Amino acid sequence: MLLKAENIKKKFNKENVLKDISLEVKKGEVVAIIGPSGSGKSTLLRCLTQLEQVDGGRIEIDGKLMVDAVDGKAVYSDAKTLHEIQVNVGLVFQNFNLFPHYSVLKNITDAQIRVLKRDKKEAKVIAMDLLSKMNLSDRWAAYPCELSGGQQQRIAIARALALNPKILFFDEPTSALDPELTGEILKVIKNLAKEKMTMVIVTHEMAFAKEVADKVIFMDNGVIIEQGTPGEVFSNTKNQRTKEFLQRYS
Ligand code: ADP
Ligand code: MG
Repeated sequence: MLLKAENIKKKFNKENVLKDISLEVKKGEVVAIIGPSGSGKSTLLRCLTQLEQVDGGRIEIDGKLMVDAVDGKAVYSDAKTLHEIQVNVGLVFQNFNLFPHYSVLKNITDAQIRVLKRDKKEAKVIAMDLLSKMNLSDRWAAYPCELSGGQQQRIAIARALALNPKILFFDEPTSALDPELTGEILKVIKNLAKEKMTMVIVTHEMAFAKEVADKVIFMDNGVIIEQGTPGEVFSNTKNQRTKEFLQRYS
C-alpha cells in the first residue's frame, strides 16, 4: 500500500469534520473522491498531506508512519521522516496556488532547488521537459497573471510533478475553470493515469471519475458512505444518500 489511513478524525472547534475515515491506495491506483460541498473532502486531503493536523487515527505513506493520533494528541514522526514523506507527496489545489511574483520557470524550479537540493541547471532541464509535456514550452518566462486558468493549472501540475511524487493529490482541479478549459486539465490527468501515476482526486466531474478511477469514494458529512469500482458506485449504487447525490450531478 502506498497510502494507508486508518480511522482519521478531525475537529474544527467542536465540529467533527472527519469522523472515522479509513482508506487505502495502492501503487498505480487512481482514487476519485466525490461528495457534497462541506463533507470534508478538502480537509481529508489536507490531513493526508501534512497541511492540517489530525486529532485521531494513523497515516502511513509508502510504508513510513507519518502520524499516530489518539484523542486529539497527534504524535508525528521525526522531522527527517516527515520530510521524506513530504517529498513523496504532491498536492494540486483548486485555485492553482502558484507564486504570483515568480515566473513560470521559477515556480517549477524553486522547490526542486530548495527541497530536493537539485542544482539550478538540472532543475531547469526538468522544468522545461515538463513544460513541453504540458504544451507550454513557450510560456516559461511568463508570470501566472498572464496565463489562463487552464494554463496556470497545468503549471501547478508541472510544479508538483517536478518533485517526482509517488502519490499526487488533486483538490477539485477543474472547479475554478470555465467548462472549455476543464477538458485540457482532465486530459493531462488522464495521461498521468495512463503512465500509472498514483492519484487521489477530489472531483465533481462524474463522467471523468467513471472513466479514470479504479476506485470511487463517496463522502458525506465527514464519513465514507460508499466506495467501490466506478461500476459499483455509479451503476449499482447501494446507498440512498449516494443515489440522491448522483442524481443531482447527472
Ligand atoms: P469539502 O472540501 O468537502 O467541501 P471541507 O473539508 O472544505 O469540505 O470542509 C468541511 C467542514 O469543515 C465544513 O463545515 C467547513 O466549514 C469546515 N472547515 C474546513 N476548514 C476549516 C477551518 N480551517 N476552520 C474551521 N472550519 C473549517
Ligand atoms: Mg473542498
